[in-house]
Amino acid sequence: MLRIFISFYLFIVLALVGLTSLLDTLMLENTSENKQIESLAQSLRFVQQDTDIAELNDSAHLSAQKIPSSSLALAPSQEIQFQQQGYIISYETDDTPNIYTQLPDGHYLQVKMAENDRPIGVIFWYRIAFFTLLALLVALWTWPLWRDIKKLEKAARSVQTDGSIESVNLSPSSNLNVISQALDNLSQQVRNLLNNQRELTSAVAHEFRTPLARLKFSMATLPDSTLQTDMQEDLNELDRLTQEMLEFSQSEHHTPELSVAEIPVKEMTQALIAGLPKQHTEKISINNLCQEHTLIADGHFVERALLNLINNALKYAEQRIQVSSEVTQSGLLLVVEDDGPGIPQDLRSKIFDAFYRPDQSRTRDKGGAGLGLATVKKIQQWHGGVVWVGDSELGGARFVLSYPYQG
Ligand code: ADP
Repeated sequence: MLRIFISFYLFIVLALVGLTSLLDTLMLENTSENKQIESLAQSLRFVQQDTDIAELNDSAHLSAQKIPSSSLALAPSQEIQFQQQGYIISYETDDTPNIYTQLPDGHYLQVKMAENDRPIGVIFWYRIAFFTLLALLVALWTWPLWRDIKKLEKAARSVQTDGSIESVNLSPSSNLNVISQALDNLSQQVRNLLNNQRELTSAVAHEFRTPLARLKFSMATLPDSTLQTDMQEDLNELDRLTQEMLEFSQSEHHTPELSVAEIPVKEMTQALIAGLPKQHTEKISINNLCQEHTLIADGHFVERALLNLINNALKYAEQRIQVSSEVTQSGLLLVVEDDGPGIPQDLRSKIFDAFYRPDQSRTRDKGGAGLGLATVKKIQQWHGGVVWVGDSELGGARFVLSYPYQG
């Protein structure tokens, strides 16, 4: 950043100095104004008497006065000029020209041109040229900066889910190379953090499995009671969460080898629902699941996706859950809808992000880790399909798994 400051500072200083001297040479020296002054100076050599001086003051709107020779100190170069030309022209700090000639009585004649006698055209065009050229030079300096900032912005917006970003190709001399490097470092750190988080999730889920299995085994040996049933349910929920975490972290690491086969949709769904606890299945109705509807996909993963949606519906539905299938022009749709609270419009894309739970208090008692829908989204991606959510006619959410047309 210091480099940008220094280069811009130097650029402005050099531009100002360069422009001023260039325009001075082109516009102020050898201009018609200078020629006027020269010819006036030449004619002043013929002023002899005080009456001539008074006339100059009256008629030519010049400020002429006689000054003693001792009041004018000339530099050696001016002395030479004086002897050669008979006059000298010197400029005051505000650029007002003073012409000096020598009178026969040894005094000097000083003639000052009044400000309003000087042509304003040159000054006006001088200013216009100065500011136009300065604006052009500044644009020339800032344009590569703007171009590089655009590249950095594009890269920053291209952050992938794994934390990687598009590479930024800045020229080695670019002032923004340091920011590009910082962005690369940041991306690297995000990738490391995500990797650590995935490894941790995977390790924790792995470590949970053995004690969970032991607990389940011990629980099964306990005599039947309400307490035992409740504990068994909690254990099953814990088991499901651990499985979800494990599957999610695996799906983040790599795309699995799909074992694709033809799946009869109705049979698969019926078997899936039959495997759920009895008290839940009463809510679920299977509608429009046509015997002929089949799917070419990996059965294990399609079941996983459907089960995640049904489990969510079981958590949020009041009374009714409906599972149906539909064939459209773009492919086969598996739909799970319920009569629960539904999903607000602004949350519909976010709920598919990993670990996203819109309302902590509402979902905590539902026991979710926020991974169910992220896993469903992954599974759909592997199959070239999509998942989305809308409103159900039942009053709640309508989740749709779409699989591309399969001929
Ligand atoms: P969780 O493990 O928290 O259920 P999910 O990824 O399965 O995570 O779901 C994310 C969030 O989406 C849930 O916390 C919940 O707020 C919302 N959600 C999912 N399914 C439904 C549904 N059928 N009705 C209402 N909200 C739902």
